[in-house]
Amino acid sequence: MPAVSTCLAPSCRNQVEGSVGTCPTCGGKMRTPRTVRIAGWVLLVCGVFLAGFMSYLWSLLAPSMAHPGATTGGTTFTGTAEQAETIFTVFAAVIVFGLGSIAYGLWMIVTGRRSIAMMIGVLVLAAALIAISWRAMAVLPG
Ligand SMILES: [Zn+2]
Repeated sequence: MPAVSTCLAPSCRNQVEGSVGTCPTCGGKMRTPRTVRIAGWVLLVCGVFLAGFMSYLWSLLAPSMAHPGATTGGTTFTGTAEQAETIFTVFAAVIVFGLGSIAYGLWMIVTGRRSIAMMIGVLVLAAALIAISWRAMAVLPG
């Protein structure tokens, strides 16, 4: 798959093969595979951070939250089983969103292109995450 640079001017949208910084048609700035790859790395790092951080929290909280009211591993979760389940649903949503970001980030790094389909996928995951967090706030105290 050859790398493509895309003109950023909305009226132009010219595409040329290779990494070209200036549009040959209108002289405007172009989005090169390099800028797409940088965006890919940003997305990848964010995804790894989100998924990693949530997995870490999960492993930290799971033992005590699986048994509400009981002291496990030095911590006591005082909420209800429903609240514990809600928290884990949010964690899972963040992890899935993180994995989606990683997938799209890798795609951009490998191909140097953007993918509308994958971008929509990540946005859908983000919307689902917001919806789940919104619902969680109604269940959780504070
Ligand atoms: Zn142009």
